[in-house]
Amino acid sequence: MPSNSKKGNDIDDQGFSDEKLTEIIRGYLTKHNLDETAIINEIERIESCGDNRLYSSLLKILSHLDFPPEEAKYYWEEIIRHKDNLAKELKRDPGIRVSMLDYFINKDTRLKNPKIIELTIYEETEKKALIDGLTGLYNHHYFMTILEKEIKISNRNSLPISLLLCDIDNFKSYNDKYGHMGGDQILITISEIMKGSFRPSDTVARYGGEEFAIIFPATDKLGVLKPAERLRGKIKKIDLKGMKLNITISCGIASYPTDAKTSEEMILCADKALYQSKYGGKDRITLYSSERRLYFRVDLVFDIRYKIRYAFKGMHTAIIRNISAQGAGLETNNDIPLRTHIRLYIDLDKKDEPIELVGKVVWSKKIPPSKYNIGLEFIQPDQVIKSKIIKFVEEQKERTK
Ligand code: GH3
Ligand code: MG
Ligand code: MG
Repeated sequence: MPSNSKKGNDIDDQGFSDEKLTEIIRGYLTKHNLDETAIINEIERIESCGDNRLYSSLLKILSHLDFPPEEAKYYWEEIIRHKDNLAKELKRDPGIRVSMLDYFINKDTRLKNPKIIELTIYEETEKKALIDGLTGLYNHHYFMTILEKEIKISNRNSLPISLLLCDIDNFKSYNDKYGHMGGDQILITISEIMKGSFRPSDTVARYGGEEFAIIFPATDKLGVLKPAERLRGKIKKIDLKGMKLNITISCGIASYPTDAKTSEEMILCADKALYQSKYGGKDRITLYSSERRLYFRVDLVFDIRYKIRYAFKGMHTAIIRNISAQGAGLETNNDIPLRTHIRLYIDLDKKDEPIELVGKVVWSKKIPPSKYNIGLEFIQPDQVIKSKIIKFVEEQKERTK
C-alpha cells in the first residue's frame, strides 16, 4: 500500500473497517494462495464474528464485482455449491477461483469479458489506478472516493472533516525557468514534503496539475491551520543546489458539515477560499467563511472604541465607526489619499497583546462641512487574526444588541 495509506480507522462500530477487512482477506489469499481450505476456514472464522461485509470484500477481490453484503453472502454460498457440483462432474476439485469464474460466466452471466490475472499483478494494477504516477500521491479519483467515505464516517461519529486545497503560486514561471522536467522535479519535492507533513489518517492527493488536496478526518478548520502553515513554511524553504527557490502556495480550507453538506460543495468552498488567497496577493491560507460572516460589519459604540488605536500622523481626531474581518470605516477631520496604509491596533482581550492590522484606504467621502468618511480594507491579515476579528465583531454585536 502507498505510504500515506489510511491506518487510523482499523476498527469501526461494525468491527473491522472495510479497508482492514479487505487487507485481511487479501493477506489470506496471498498467504494461502493454493490452500483453499485455509481460506474457507478463515472466512468462516471471520463470519462467526457476525460480519457479512467480508463476502463483499472477498467477491470484490476475486471477481472485481460489487455486491452488497447480503447478496455477496448468497453468491458465495452459491459458488461453494457450484464448486461441489463441478467437483462431482469433473471428478476433481476445480478450486474456488475456477468455480467462481465458471459460475459468473455460465450460471449468472455477470462477467462479460473475463480476464484471468495473477493476484500480485492485479494488486499492482489496482494500486496504479489509485496513485498519481509522477508524485506517488493518491490521484483525483481516489481523493473523491475517500472524501465521500469520510463524509459517511463523519455522519456516524458526528466529528467534522476539513479539506485543504493548495495551489502552487506562479508555477508557470518555474516551468519557464527550469523547463518542464525541472517543474516536474519541484512537484515531486513538494509531494515528498506533503507525504511527511500530516497524520497517517489524513489523505494527501494530487488534485490536478500543480494543485493538491488533503483530507483531515475529525478536524475542524482551525485545526488544519497549524499544519497548513507549517507546510507553507517548509515549501518556502525548498532549495535547488543550495539556492532558495522561494516557492509559495495559496490555500483554502473548508469543513464538513459547517460549510458544506456534500463533497462537491466542500470542494467548492475550499476552492472559493483558495481563490480569495490568490486574489488577496497569494502566499497565504484562507479559511472558508460565508460572505455574511466575513463582511459582517459592526458599528462600534463609544466604550469599545478605546480598544482600537490607529497610527497615522495626520489623523489626530479619527474615530473608528465600524469594523469587519475585511476592513473598517473611519471618520476623520482630514482627507487621506487613496491607497494610503494605516495601522490599527485592536485590543481584543486584556490578556492578549493588541493585534496590529494594516488597512489600505479604498474610498473616501467628504461629510460637509469638514469631516471625511474613510473606507479601509485590511491587507493580508493572517487567518488566525481574521478569525479573531470575526469573533471580536460577533461578540461586540452581541453586547450592543
Ligand atoms: P497561479 O499563481 O495563479 O496559480 O499561477 P500558475 O502559473 O501556477 O497557474 P496556472 O494555472 O496558470 O498554471 C499552472 C501551470 O502548471 C501550467 C502547467 O503547465 C503547469 N503544470 C501542470 N501540471 C504540470 C506537471 O505535471 N508538470 C509540470 N512541469 N508543470 C505542470
Ligand atoms: Mg492551478
Ligand atoms: Mg498555480
